[in-house]
Amino acid sequence: MTTDVKQTVWLGPGVVRFTVLCEACLAECSPKEGRYATVLEGELPLSRVREAATCPHGHAFELVRTSAGRRAA
Ligand SMILES: [Zn+2]
Ligand SMILES: [Zn+2]
Repeated sequence: MTTDVKQTVWLGPGVVRFTVLCEACLAECSPKEGRYATVLEGELPLSRVREAATCPHGHAFELVRTSAGRRAA
């Protein structure tokens, strides 16, 4: 059984680097490999608004930059 739900990472207007936990890995991998196995680190260049990414185990992520001047709900 695999987890097909794409996870979204919201980044603020000036944020390039991010570190998030993969929820799918938390469920599937953490019990076997430990907590560190669930961490996804990456970068979204300031020129990019939206980009796809995958965690080390292949779960899908979408990186989305929130616009300046308006707080994300
Ligand atoms: Zn994962
Ligand atoms: Zn994993």
